[in-house]
Formats: sequence, C-alpha cells, structure tokens
Amino acid sequence: MSDNYRTRKPIYRPRAAIVSSPPLPPPPPSTPYVVVDDGNASPRYMRSTTYAFPSTHKLAVQVGIPLALLLTPFAERPPCESVPIVRSPVARCGRCRGYVNPWVRWDPDGRGWECNLCLKHNATDPSYLKRNTPGGSRGNSAVDVPYEQTFGTVDVEVGDDYCVRELQRPIHMFGIEESEGVLAHGLEAVVEVAKGLKAAFDSPSKPISENDSPERFCPTVGFFTFSPSCLRFFSCNDAGEVSVHLVTDVKDSPFAALPASAAGFDVVSSLDKLQELVEKVPSLISQHTVPSRSNNPEPCSGAAILALGDSLLPTGGKGYLITTMRPTCGSLSLRKRENRNHYVDRDAEVSMFSPINERSAVHLGGAQALEEDKAAMEAYESFARELAKGMVCLDIFMCPTRPSAPSAQERADPAAYPAAGSNEPPPTPYCDAATLGSLTSTTGGSFYLLQSSSLPTLPALALRSATRPHGNEAVVKVRTSVGIQVKGWTFSPGIVHTSMGGSEVEVPSLDADKTLCCILEHDSAKMSANAYFQCATLFTSTSGVRTVRISTLAISTTAEAQDVFRASDQDALCATLSRKSVEFLGFYSRAPSSSSEILKSTTAKGSLLKARTFLINALVNILSNYRKYTQASQSPKDQLILPDALKLLPLFILSFLKSSAVRCSLPKSRTVKSHPPSPRVDARATRIYDTCFAPLSLTFAFVHPNIYDVTTMEKDVGLLYQVENDGGGDGTENNHGRSTLDVDEETTRPFIKLPPTILPSMTSLTQDGVYLMDAVDVMYLYITRLAQQSVTSELFNVDTPLGDPSTPLPTALSPVSDLGSRLIAVIGELTKERSAPCPLEVVVQGREDCSVLENQFNALLVDDSTIHEVSYIDFLVAIHRKIQEQYVN
Ligand SMILES: [Zn+2]
Repeated sequence: MSDNYRTRKPIYRPRAAIVSSPPLPPPPPSTPYVVVDDGNASPRYMRSTTYAFPSTHKLAVQVGIPLALLLTPFAERPPCESVPIVRSPVARCGRCRGYVNPWVRWDPDGRGWECNLCLKHNATDPSYLKRNTPGGSRGNSAVDVPYEQTFGTVDVEVGDDYCVRELQRPIHMFGIEESEGVLAHGLEAVVEVAKGLKAAFDSPSKPISENDSPERFCPTVGFFTFSPSCLRFFSCNDAGEVSVHLVTDVKDSPFAALPASAAGFDVVSSLDKLQELVEKVPSLISQHTVPSRSNNPEPCSGAAILALGDSLLPTGGKGYLITTMRPTCGSLSLRKRENRNHYVDRDAEVSMFSPINERSAVHLGGAQALEEDKAAMEAYESFARELAKGMVCLDIFMCPTRPSAPSAQERADPAAYPAAGSNEPPPTPYCDAATLGSLTSTTGGSFYLLQSSSLPTLPALALRSATRPHGNEAVVKVRTSVGIQVKGWTFSPGIVHTSMGGSEVEVPSLDADKTLCCILEHDSAKMSANAYFQCATLFTSTSGVRTVRISTLAISTTAEAQDVFRASDQDALCATLSRKSVEFLGFYSRAPSSSSEILKSTTAKGSLLKARTFLINALVNILSNYRKYTQASQSPKDQLILPDALKLLPLFILSFLKSSAVRCSLPKSRTVKSHPPSPRVDARATRIYDTCFAPLSLTFAFVHPNIYDVTTMEKDVGLLYQVENDGGGDGTENNHGRSTLDVDEETTRPFIKLPPTILPSMTSLTQDGVYLMDAVDVMYLYITRLAQQSVTSELFNVDTPLGDPSTPLPTALSPVSDLGSRLIAVIGELTKERSAPCPLEVVVQGREDCSVLENQFNALLVDDSTIHEVSYIDFLVAIHRKIQEQYVN
C-alpha cells in the first residue's frame, strides 16, 4: 500500500476507456482518481453495472448481472472537474428529444445529424448551424467547438421555458424543539447554516446569471421553536426589538404564525440580526411560559411539521425539523408500533419497520386499529405529495435522547419494550423512523437518527445538508439507445412519473449524497456497436438559473459473456443488488402514482427472508453463470472461480446479509427475553433509507467497515504527505483548452497518510491492541482489555486506567499529544468527503457501561461468524456447494 502514496492519483478518461480493448470498468468509487472529460460521462455522475453491454436479452439472462445505471447528477468533484456551462440553446432530436452530444454523427457539411439514441436523421436548425463547426474542422484547435459536442457532461442554461413557475428565492426554515440540549444545538445549526449560505453566496466562483440580479436569489434563514403547548415564532423590527408570536392550537389546525418572508433573515444583510435573536431565544422562551391546552406532555412535533409546510408551501424551500419525538398528537400523530413480542414474529416485524400502512395493525386485531392506521398512512402520503408538489424539501433530525423511564402503564404491559422487570438499560424511545422517513425521502430530504453522543454533530450535519452540491426543483430523465429501454427505478427520492414510461423522477431537491438507480432492459430492436445513455437533469441552480445537466455515456456492446463479466462494475452491481433486495421487504413509503399500484404495493407481503433469499440467489446465479458461459468452465470443478472484476461480490453479499438492513433481529432459537433484538426497527428503517440513496463510494464501507491498528501506526501516518512530483502526468491534450495545471495540481495534491487496513475479524485483533473502526456513520475506538496504559493516556491525556469502571469514559482524543493529534488527522481524512460528520465512540473491552457499544462493534466484525450468520470462509463453502448443484443441473 505504501507505494501508492508515492504516485499521483490516476487520471481516468471515460471516452478513451470505451474504445480500449477489452473495455474495463472505471476506478472504484471509493478510491482517489481524477477524471478528464474527453467526451463521455464521468463515472462520478453515471455508472453502469457493466461496461460491455450484452447485445441481446438472451446474453443478459445468461450472465445474470442486472443491467442498471447508477446516477448521481450532483456528485462531489474536485475543482479541476468543473462542468462547462453552455449559454446557447442546444439542438435536440425531433423524435426522442435527446440532446446533441459528442456521439451524434454529423453530415460532412454540418446541415444534418443522426441521433445516436434513436437513429433519426435531423436537419440542423440554421441558428444552431452558426455555432456548429462539424466534422472536418474538429481537429482544428483554433475552431471553437460547442461544449455539448465535446464534453460528456455539460450544464445548459435553459431559461424560463423550462420553468414550472416563477423562480423563487431559496428559503431555509427550522422548527426546533425547546427541550434541553436539542434547543442549543438546533439554534447553533441555524447560525451555522446562515453563515455557510452566506459564504457560498459570496463565493467568487459562483456562476452569475447574465440577465438577473443575483441579490434576488440571496438565501434567507428563519426558525421557530416548539414545546408541548405551543409553537413560537419570532420577528425582529429595524430597531432590533423582538416580538414573539405564539400558536397555541397545536392539535387541530396548527399553522405558521408568520410567513417565511417575515420569519426569514437575509443571510448577507441580516446575519448579525439573526445571531442576536438566536442569543436571546432561551431567555425569551423562559419569559413566555404557556400552559398546555391539550394536556399533551409530549413536544408537538406533528404541529411543527405542519407549520413548516404552511410556512414553505407558498414558495417552496427547505425545512429542517429538529426533535426528540415522533408526533403523538393531532393529525400526523403516530402510535407506538414497536412491540417487543412482535420481534419473534417475522411478519409482525416487517409491519413494524415499514412506514405505517393499512396492514400495520393486523397483529393488534380490531377493525378500529386498522382504520386508524389507514388514516395515518393517508395523512402522511398526501402531506408528502403536497410538500413535493410545492417544492418543499424536508430534513428531519431525530434525537431520541429524552430519559425514558417507562410509564406505569408500560411497566405493567408484558409486551412493552423493554420487557417488564428486565434489567436492561432503558432503550431510546421509539420514533417511527420509517414513516417520518417517507416524508423526507419523497421530498428529497434526509432523515438523521442521532444518538445522544452524535448530538454535537447536528450543526455540521445541517450545514452540510444546506450547502452540499444540489439542484432544486429537479427532474431526472433517462434516454437510451435503440434496443434498450428503461424498465423502472429502484426506490428513489422524489416521485417517479409512470405516465412518462417510468423514466422520469421529480424531486424538490436532489443533492450530492443521493444516488438514483435506473433499471434497464432490452427491447425487441437490434442494438448497434455501442450502447448510449443520456441522463438529463433539469434543475434550478443555487444562483437561480434554470439549467439542464446533460451526461451522455457510451459503452461498448458485446456478444460474449466473458466480456460482460470482465467489464462489470463491482460497486455499481453491489448497490443495485442491495437496492433491489429492499423491494422484497415490502418497504415502500411513497404514495404510488396509480391506483393499481396502490393495490399492488399494499397487498404484496414483504419479508426479510424474501430479501435475503433474493441476494443469495442472485450471487449464486451470477457465479454459476460465470462457470457455465465463460472460459472458467475449463477450470477444475472443485474450485470456486470468481470473476476478476467481482472478486469481492460474495464478501459484499455476506456483509450486507449481516447488516442492519436485512439481518434478522433475533437469531434462530433465541427468545426475546434472553436476547434483546438488534437492530431495533428505527435503526433498521434508517439503514434501509441509507441503502437506497447513499452514494456509491459508501456502498461497501457501510456493510464492510475498515479497521485500523492504532498501536502499530507508522510515524508518518496522520501527517500531511507530499506526492513525489514525477515531472508530469500522462498529458492532458483532450482537456479542450482548459487548464491542464488544475489536473496536475489535483493529481499531486498532498494528503493525510492513512494506516493500512486490517480485516474486520476477531482473529486480526491482538489482546493488547487499540483499533479504529470506520463504520461510516460512527467511528469506534476499540480499546482491548490489556491495552497499554501509556497508549491510552497519550490518546486521551488521562492518567487512570480505562478498565477501571470508576474512571469516566473519555469522549475526545487529545489534540496535543503526538498519537492523539495524528489519529484526529486520520479521522478527518477518512470523513472529509462524507455526507455526515462522524461521532467517535470509545469502547473499552469488558466494561459494563460499554456493553451495548461492544456488541455493536462485534456485530461489525463481518468476516467472523456471528450469532446470526456464518463466517466468510463458511459462506464461500456454502455458496460453492450451491454453484456446483446448479452446475450439475
Ligand atoms: Zn433521437
């Protein structure tokens, strides 16, 4: 590994890669690379499950690899990969409406062109002809060739014709619960977001629309707070005097006391005023106590959600709900569906972790419960659609941190969680992540489930959510070349429009941390030598310009199974399989667009077993097809042969089976009494949403965590590493006149050196080691029982042994010691491109107050056998046996 540090980041040219023979997949998404757009879509925006597309349906079936595109239109990218902007209209095909791209065929005189997607010959519009410099002059560098003819991805500014309504100023509105801890972090988030938006707005690199004043699109930030008894809005006059506006009807018809325009602060001109107000809020709240009218002891988070909608629906915008509770009162209230006894009944468990629906109460019996759940389902579905239609994107930060002593009623209830009379610590309260997540996913937002240790990361999470690359009012459309069609989408953010042949997704806001999966299939037509895919994403940019981001991907086709395997993209395939498996859970959350679909989705019964069986069958099918239809058929039958490009596929499938998305919460033959269920339903639902939307760079890391040995870290690990300059890259002649220096700078950018990874297995750990485990949403620092005290005291700057239960558990690394500061740098490097800052959990082996965390850590040693699953070695043996059975048949 150390040699990699000396070389520059590899450069990937997506067009050159296609014409190379044999075609190979792009670099894995989690590795560093730099893309030079030489006329084909960057893998950051578009990946295919294979880069040698099967030329017939028959071959596709023989191979068994699902054909799919993974789309991240707003992916993060280094500055040198900026997307060129086209300010003139781009010619479109008269039949399929595809856009001109580097792969259309021009007539020699430029007066006509053949669409690479539908093969129609189009006459060039005279106005376009003026910009067009086709064919022969292409090689002449003095001629300015339109960007859309030379780049795989371009941003085309399209103007008002593509607007559904007048462009709106970006509005960010927070609803913050007034409970201790949460309020302070929520208010801090308001200020952080306002500062971040101001910095982005002031940034000189921001593209400015030619015909609009940028001030019109300066974002505003506002907030209100809520308690069990009221919603509190604040306004501020020019003299700085604050008025508090109360809404005490939190049950029947809550509303926003102020329109977003009056509650919001311009982040450029009024940031100071906002900060002053935020500082006054805690005392304003204590001055205006409000007696509860509804006798509801819980914070009115349902009323807060409705008020966010009321405030943002007229204009669209982004809402942030920060709360500790699911709604328990009024029209969005959700009953407690988690029941400890239902974990033993697989069917009942599925209805607990799915969004509430008309079958949820089937296990309770009684027509009234069914009716109530049906009403709740309808309330959520119609509200989600109303928000999506109004271009409101909603984030929910759920922080179930209230001390939860069970009520007298719960203590008496044998089905309550935890079991009556048990010694388990009180679990975090149930918050119905599944149903609330349906609001965030339909609107393109994110659902965050924050444990109390992660609360301090809330402001950074909100900042990231507000300022990461994104497009508002987005419509994603995929067009394909002859012989291929879009079959549909796996569960995706936003709303899928089936009336458009299922090939369009509409979402209020789409961001860098959301990847869509578009499933492809062959149709009856014959394919040509290349397969083409064009993804056009219409969106409003942060500077208020209606834009279409057009990415066109060409990949070669093949009649050989061997080629399809060799060119398959492991991460894209793993993401597709895991997303498809979720469909078997019956986990849906969006109101389907047609009534027949509603029928289908509510009657199709999902199960963990179906999802798991699907994954194992898909793996066995792919590997046995490899044996049957490629040169691997020559190999001895008692060997397990894996395709080179898919060497880690079995490891991924096993790790995913062990993940909280699809593993069983109770192992076979264990009872609820003897074993607390893991995962609980909220953790599972949250992980399912992550699985369906996460960018590909995290697909593997989510299920197969990286572990680093801290005690054997070399002296230069955690320090800034300067790449040796070898005197030039591989030439950047295809960069179309744009600075090659940027590419050079990116490939040789200094970085923090990381320690080597070790396998996530107990056998890799020594008795006296200290280990860092990166589980994407949390970092565990695992300190073994015999770890040397000199190491732990350097890490945390403490003198007492951590194994002693009276020593308080340290919560942060010491930034002043050598080891502590280098480990902080390592963690920073690992998480710098993540959607979320990552809390650090210190786990001391054998300490009672670490037992929950220790179990979580052990469950992530996915190469080992667990109480749920076999070890990796045993899994391979079992899979091999299944393949041999198939091979014989
Ligand atoms: Zn066409």
